[in-house]
Amino acid sequence: MSNFDIVPLKDWGFNITKPFIVSGPCSCETEEQMMETAQRLKHQGINALRAGIWKPRTRPGMFEGIGKEGLQWLVNAAKEIELPATVEVATGQHVEDALNAGIDILWVGARTTVNPFSVQEVADALKGVYIPVMVKNPINPDLQLWMGGIERINKAGIKRLGAIHRGFSSYEKTKYRNKPMWELPIELRRLNPNIPIIVDPSHICGKRDLIHSVSQKALDLDFDGLMIESHRDPDNAWSDASQQVTPERLGEIIRSLVVRHSALDHDGEDKLATLRQQIDRIDNYMLEIMAERMFIARQIGEYKRDNGVTILQTNRWDEIINTRAENAAKKKLSREFVQQMMDAIHQESIRHQTEIMNKMLAE
Ligand code: PEP
Ligand code: MN
Repeated sequence: MSNFDIVPLKDWGFNITKPFIVSGPCSCETEEQMMETAQRLKHQGINALRAGIWKPRTRPGMFEGIGKEGLQWLVNAAKEIELPATVEVATGQHVEDALNAGIDILWVGARTTVNPFSVQEVADALKGVYIPVMVKNPINPDLQLWMGGIERINKAGIKRLGAIHRGFSSYEKTKYRNKPMWELPIELRRLNPNIPIIVDPSHICGKRDLIHSVSQKALDLDFDGLMIESHRDPDNAWSDASQQVTPERLGEIIRSLVVRHSALDHDGEDKLATLRQQIDRIDNYMLEIMAERMFIARQIGEYKRDNGVTILQTNRWDEIINTRAENAAKKKLSREFVQQMMDAIHQESIRHQTEIMNKMLAE
């Protein structure tokens, strides 16, 4: 599925150049907070002003958004700094209210993208409407669900359509609030090269000190822009306080980001082509080595089968993981990477050995 009919960001009609930078508070709280935040954002290099009006919160009792009344505060603040205003919508009524208030760009939040009924309701409300929409990834790492959400909005006739990568929820605790799992947005782009994808470092990081590095990584991966939450007084924000930055800090972050080019000059192309050939050679070599390893694993499988030994021997596996990790550290490979790589190799070995065992059972 790569046939989405999509208008490139530069033709959305708001003078957008890459990187497209959206900023503003997590939540619109008061008219003054919205206006002051916008005014202080004015010369920080952003392209659109955001704010949440309806906040889908994990637990009831948290601040669930100021509601419809705040839409006008957001629109007025955006007018004041001559930028488009963007807001999250989760229901057909939200779409209607946002359009009536004069919002310029809509986005669908992560908790909405997980639910096809909700996305369809938003899509139905967008039929016959001319407004750009961005679709955040669902909170779980499911690329099909993300693409399904984009497709529903596209089928409603929305062509100024983009995606927002805001990381994925996981039970396991990491330094991120939502694991970036960059492979998913990269795969989204590979399958649908014409979809603009912006990255939301605020919801990926959960804390403000990680925002700069994740933003730089997003640009280095050639994504089209950033959505970063900013607030006039981040520590006292009514939602997502620890991840918001002041407008001035946002400006510093933006100015310190290095925007690299995806296209190279002739010499650069040659150099890159040579290095890529080396990578291709190494990858092929790695596959051959893996095939050889599996060949030996099968022989071990035969031995285990003939001697009635179980496939998995925990002590041996422990020893493998520990020795390989030590070795890896000496070669400047991260422990996590080596662990994941060895896990994958081990799974494949077990698959081969199980096949050998079952063969005997079938005979
Ligand atoms: C937000 O942008 O404030 C928000 C609620 O984000 P997400 O849908 O990514 O959780
Ligand atoms: Mn937020």
